[in-house]
Amino acid sequence: MDNTENKSVILIGAGVLSTTFGSFLKDVEPNWNIKLFERLDQPAIESSNETNNAGTGHAALCELNYTVEQKDGSIDVEKAKEINEQFEVSKQFWSYLIKSNAIQNPKDFIRPLPHISFVLGTKNVNFLKRRYEKLAKLPMFEDIEYSEDKEVLKQWIPLMMEGRSSNTPFAASKINEGTDVNFGELTRKMAKNIEGHDNADVYYRHEVVDFKQRDDKKWEVKVRNLQNNQVDVHVADYIFIGAGGNAIPMLQKTNIPESKHLGGFPISGAFLVCSNPNIVNEHDAKVYGKEPPGTPPMTVPHLDRRYIDGKKSLLFGPFAAIGPKFLKNGSNLDLFKSINPSNVVTMLSAATKNFPLVKYSVQQVLMGKEDRMKELRRFIPDAKDEDWDLHIAGKRVQVIKDTKEHGRGFIQFGTEVVNSEDHTVIALLGESPGASTSVSVALEVIEKNFPQFKQAWEPKLKEMIPSYGQSLIEDTKLLHETRKATAQALELNEK
Ligand SMILES: Cc1cc2nc3c(=O)[nH]c(=O)nc-3n(C[C@H](O)[C@H](O)[C@H](O)COP(=O)(O)OP(=O)(O)OC[C@H]3O[C@@H](n4cnc5c(N)ncnc54)[C@H](O)[C@@H]3O)c2cc1C
Repeated sequence: MDNTENKSVILIGAGVLSTTFGSFLKDVEPNWNIKLFERLDQPAIESSNETNNAGTGHAALCELNYTVEQKDGSIDVEKAKEINEQFEVSKQFWSYLIKSNAIQNPKDFIRPLPHISFVLGTKNVNFLKRRYEKLAKLPMFEDIEYSEDKEVLKQWIPLMMEGRSSNTPFAASKINEGTDVNFGELTRKMAKNIEGHDNADVYYRHEVVDFKQRDDKKWEVKVRNLQNNQVDVHVADYIFIGAGGNAIPMLQKTNIPESKHLGGFPISGAFLVCSNPNIVNEHDAKVYGKEPPGTPPMTVPHLDRRYIDGKKSLLFGPFAAIGPKFLKNGSNLDLFKSINPSNVVTMLSAATKNFPLVKYSVQQVLMGKEDRMKELRRFIPDAKDEDWDLHIAGKRVQVIKDTKEHGRGFIQFGTEVVNSEDHTVIALLGESPGASTSVSVALEVIEKNFPQFKQAWEPKLKEMIPSYGQSLIEDTKLLHETRKATAQALELNEK
């Protein structure tokens, strides 16, 4: 491929990942042609929508699954450091978008909110205390506070302490510098930013239906206009599959070797949402508990203050619901159609190898409202049925694949970048902590797939992300400077 000519890139889907990557691309290569196709009539309707995810700016401040207890009793904090750094990178890019006037009004999409971990029972209290002692020594988490004192916790989480018996030991840790992020609003702003670019076209109600790679390595992409059913062919040098739950079927359609021995299992998230404004006002934090043993990160229960359209709300969950659709607005045939001779054994192996997850999923499906309220009462002892309603949130499609390390049917958690050997197809699979780390994911895409442009793009990347190429884990001064700058740009010091 000639590296001097301007390239064309097709982005599939108008969720947070495609719009982040598109926002990068339009500034590092303003002359490249970008086409974004979205099957729905607006951006951010699927998982990136504010009502379809929990809006946690995942920075490993309160999520206990990022600080795992090892067999020898020590606590591994490496993942927490990595996630925290990735969120700092996201905040830098969003600050750049604000400062360059590409998007406006940071309060529309990011607000400061304390992040708290809360546990019950002697064993968990002991874990939380040791986690606190370890994190407090690290510059990234040095502001962490810890308490087992009921009076202190009444100040931090009054709603959770009302009516709580002291028979079961409890403890909490708190970091005030957490955030609530409206990823839907952020996505809409970034989509508008791309639409305003001279060399970009954004098409809503246009569904990508098939691909064919030509001998010159360019891709012919078939796109159906859902308004008149007409199918057109668009040609591109690169295809970026940011299709959320639909990414696996899209990747399978490219027929590249990397799409084989890969499957997906869809799980819907559901939350209890509080309809009583008096209760909503009593809780001013995101509080994460401990996941049931042997289950994946998405099972961690949490009670979250949210800001949606400037209004406060409160949700608890997530609960899981199983169904065959890969997108909330998908088809009941999605799961069935994604199974083919190359991945059927992979899928079956996953079911037999992941018994705790299967058991958890079955239990979740059988849950009625009273069972869910029982879970909620571990957080809010006095919670009343009439104040809470079930809301079905977004889809997560768990990636199932064969790996050398784990064998057949390994269930992959986290977001994964898959690319063809010639780097012309890039797909983003998976989920948590997806939206929060979308900027690091975009950087990974750039580094892995566009190495020939690295030198030319580096000055712009450093302008976008001042810490680019340096470590916020190792360099404490840089960490403090970065946090100060992003807090100012994103107005995080103001309530
Ligand atoms: C219950 C739940 C809670 C979550 N909580 C958090 C959280 O607290 N913090 C966090 O950081 N992350 C969270 N996540 C994860 C986060 O929401 C996702 O990682 C992120 O939104 C994924 O963005 P995306 O752009 O890949 O996908 P999406 O937002 O789903 O966008 C994909 C888009 O592609 C379109 N599309 C699909 N196929 C085609 C096609 N063939 N042609 C054209 N368009 C197509 C779809 O219509 C959709 O608009 C949560 C997820 C769930 C489900």
